Amino acid sequence: GRRFLVGGNWKMNGSKASIAELAKAWGAAKVDDNVEVVIGAPALYLDYVRQQLPASFATAAQNSYKVASGAFTGEISPAMIKDVGADWVILGHSERRHIFKEADELIGEKVQHALESGLKVIACVGELLEEREAGDTQKVVDRQMHAIAGHVSDWSRVVIAYEPVWAIGTGKTASPEQAQEVHANIRAWLKTNVSEDVAAATRIIYGGSVKPANCVELSKKEDVDGFLVGGASLKPDFVDIINCTR
Ligand code: 13P
Repeated sequence: GRRFLVGGNWKMNGSKASIAELAKAWGAAKVDDNVEVVIGAPALYLDYVRQQLPASFATAAQNSYKVASGAFTGEISPAMIKDVGADWVILGHSERRHIFKEADELIGEKVQHALESGLKVIACVGELLEEREAGDTQKVVDRQMHAIAGHVSDWSRVVIAYEPVWAIGTGKTASPEQAQEVHANIRAWLKTNVSEDVAAATRIIYGGSVKPANCVELSKKEDVDGFLVGGASLKPDFVDIINCTR
């Protein structure tokens, strides 16, 4: 079985004070320990988050560059992320792709270097509204998968996050059926292009306006192996999403 994984992506939000408050609430809550929890914090706070959060919560950076060090002003490397005690990095998020114009190939290179550096990777894919409306969802997702998969040596350390861009921060969640359809297609893509074992074992998580009120129905879908949660991961009741499969 694939272990259910719930990730929080705080994006560019939070402060020391808000982190301490959340950590206190989560530390006092009952959390399903069958679920793997990964918190994606702003890089500046990773060290602090690591100190504050329950030990069972893993931490992730939200981006990393494709080499270990050098003259790349403003960037951070997987080696640095590991050095402050985080084990994961989120790569290829739609905000990186669309606001910061990261191309498929760069995302692939970042995935490769993060894995080679010993990090685990949440690699994000997903279509824009106009791509869905043009009937191109699978074409776009396949293209993004191809660019990632070409750089993956160890699939046991990769989680795929399907995040339809039209569902991110909009309050418009994909229906459980819409999510399941794309997740099943991603799994089929892995079977055809990587292997049957990798397809069966790889977690495919859903992101886009996930909240306590819609997570249970989504979690029941066969190919939904967890969530990547934005806004709702900044609130104490994020634990209700972690616990949604109980
Ligand atoms: P929201 O949950 O705020 O829609 O964000 C989803 C997301 O982008 C997670 O990476």
